Amino acid sequence: MEKLFFKSVEDLSKMLAQKSISSVELTRIFLQRIKTVEPKVQAFLSLDEEKSLRQAEASDERRSKGQVLSPLDGIPVGMKDVIAEKGQPLTCASKILEHYVSPYDATVTERLHRAGAVLVGRLNMDEFAMGSSTENSACQKTRNPWNLEYVPGGSSGGSAAAVCAGEVPLALGSDTGGSIRQPALCCGITGLKPTYGLVSRYGLSALASSLDQIGPFARNVADLGLLLQVIAGHDDRDSTSCNVEIPNYSQFLMKQQPCRIGIPKEYFSDGIDLEVRQAIENAITFYRKNGYSIVDISLPHTPYAVPVYYVVMTAEASSNLARFDGIRYSSRSSMATNATDIYFKSREEGFGAEVKRRIILGTYVLSSNHLDAYYVRAQKVRTRIREDFAKAFETVDVILSPTSPTTAFKLGEKINDPLLMYLSDIHTVSINLAGLPGLSLPCGFSKAGLPIGFQLIGKAFHESELLSVAHQFERAHDFVQRFPIVS
Ligand code: GLN
Repeated sequence: MEKLFFKSVEDLSKMLAQKSISSVELTRIFLQRIKTVEPKVQAFLSLDEEKSLRQAEASDERRSKGQVLSPLDGIPVGMKDVIAEKGQPLTCASKILEHYVSPYDATVTERLHRAGAVLVGRLNMDEFAMGSSTENSACQKTRNPWNLEYVPGGSSGGSAAAVCAGEVPLALGSDTGGSIRQPALCCGITGLKPTYGLVSRYGLSALASSLDQIGPFARNVADLGLLLQVIAGHDDRDSTSCNVEIPNYSQFLMKQQPCRIGIPKEYFSDGIDLEVRQAIENAITFYRKNGYSIVDISLPHTPYAVPVYYVVMTAEASSNLARFDGIRYSSRSSMATNATDIYFKSREEGFGAEVKRRIILGTYVLSSNHLDAYYVRAQKVRTRIREDFAKAFETVDVILSPTSPTTAFKLGEKINDPLLMYLSDIHTVSINLAGLPGLSLPCGFSKAGLPIGFQLIGKAFHESELLSVAHQFERAHDFVQRFPIVS
């Protein structure tokens, strides 16, 4: 049973099918692993051992009756603490939701239950998903399992670190501007932000509703497809959810058709680390040698992506976070003596600095005096960014870029410089602004031993193509077979 916690879901699922292990045994092994590494990694905000063992027992019982629900039946999964799970804490890593317990399941949670997955616990994140290092969590600092002095990326840093450290084989995160792809890169695993509208946002605590998507983290591309399969699909309860046919993602992995890969020149500027650039050039060479045509393309509005994102995202965030007012969901200040006080003091005490910064910025760009100058203008440029992609996809099928300009950085390195932190997302935010799917895949290690990754961007609802192109690279390299030493 050695290192069972680093096995792929495909392998674990086979073991369960052959009855060489039960789901209860498997869940216990992961719970034990969590206990061993958590003092160092600190990815989990809460665990519910009893509940997860009950779910595992139910899975074993189904299996004994031949009623297996899906390849994920009996497999442990971790949840970012921004996705509702009935009876479990939903803190968004914020003090303002410290004691909040969700009264209902998100649609993705319901789908995981229906697939028979075992939900083990809630994972750390930047407060309300604002950040790129998970240091904005009001709860604890999650560390990068490859080097505990480094950040795991963010905002879904807990999800990425937990999968990376073998605490769970799969986890869900959310991505508004890069929060799945960038932590996946930092932790040397795979992560996918689906097309806007593919996965229901019902039960996801909103950061920016026109950008947010829930997506999977896994140690390899095949497993990523298995989790996507469970969560994708139309939902009446989310009006932005699209009614599209969901393909069998696993089948696509086997159908390999070399296609045209676009390399956008604006994504390879001087700001990229030399080691990152080299590893990505090696990946491009791999594709060229394997029958893919490599096409130079341009996405001319790329330089505006970060400013546009920070106008649109803060505007939507300021409005979404208005509901946390000390009256409905959130903790109430004990210092308040009248109604206005409840509102002001609860928000003042409950929100962290980054959240306040974004609420102020968002309120400003939406204020009547500045609306046209910032918000309306940003929306116009957003359309241009979307058009850039539409034009590029006339000549290519997939676009390849760095996921982020650097590898993971040291804890504390960027926390006092928000602008520097925001630049971690320079290669990911455009994809959310355009509503497209993006996948991050490991493609090397730096001399310091930290993972390097690249991003594949696809046409809307072409996740299967991304998984297939990624799978080609993955199976020819051993990056996903390397594991961090944390014990
Ligand atoms: N890091 C980006 C931000 O701080 C993206 C966040 C996200 O995708 N949730 O806004």
